[in-house]
Amino acid sequence: MHNVVYTLTNTLTGRLYVGSAEVFSVRQRAHLHHLNARTHHCVYLENAWHKYGAGAFVWDIIATAEHVALLLPMEQAYLDHYGRLGILYNHCKVAGSTSGVKATEETKAKISAAKKGTKVSDDARAKISATMMGKGKSDDTKAKMSAYRAGRKYTEEELVKLRATREASAPQREAERRAYWEAQLAAGVKICTVCERSQPLSEFNRRVKSPDGLSPLCRTCKKNTRKKAKENGNE
Ligand SMILES: [Zn+2]
Repeated sequence: MHNVVYTLTNTLTGRLYVGSAEVFSVRQRAHLHHLNARTHHCVYLENAWHKYGAGAFVWDIIATAEHVALLLPMEQAYLDHYGRLGILYNHCKVAGSTSGVKATEETKAKISAAKKGTKVSDDARAKISATMMGKGKSDDTKAKMSAYRAGRKYTEEELVKLRATREASAPQREAERRAYWEAQLAAGVKICTVCERSQPLSEFNRRVKSPDGLSPLCRTCKKNTRKKAKENGNE
């Protein structure tokens, strides 16, 4: 999935995290990594993740942008919407600063362009509000949330079931992820986990430990990371 606005909803409390990504699977993996390692930038989300368990959370793609320039304005619309309802985990309610990774120069440029110039067309606006009013969440999430609102907590049994369902679908999700990754490699490109740009394999350093023998970061991002680490070390 590309150019999406997504939510990670705690089905037990109804609170949610809103984010956007050019490549959803990459972003999702980054979130999971940081949540589990307790290094996530959103402490509220991280705490809830460990308190309620991964099985209590559901991912939803709530909108797809036709163009990447629309992504941040769209995410912002959702942040505003859920912010007004007071059910956000995001402590930073400005789209583009919530990715969990430090913004690259490219991303920063995109954000400021989105803030300054890029007008969201009336057409796009209509689409955004239609999505927000309509399907927003999957039926699965809706059912779970309305069950919660009815004042009922999940029983331990139901939680076990919920987790089992997720675990059962894990191989399929993993297969999809792999297929996507292999298709990228076959096409002679790879997506950098930091800048999320699709780039030729030659842009990645060798890394014996990786399954594809290449670093997950592109050379440019690797260089930036090293530079920043050096700068921080000298401070
Ligand atoms: Zn990169």
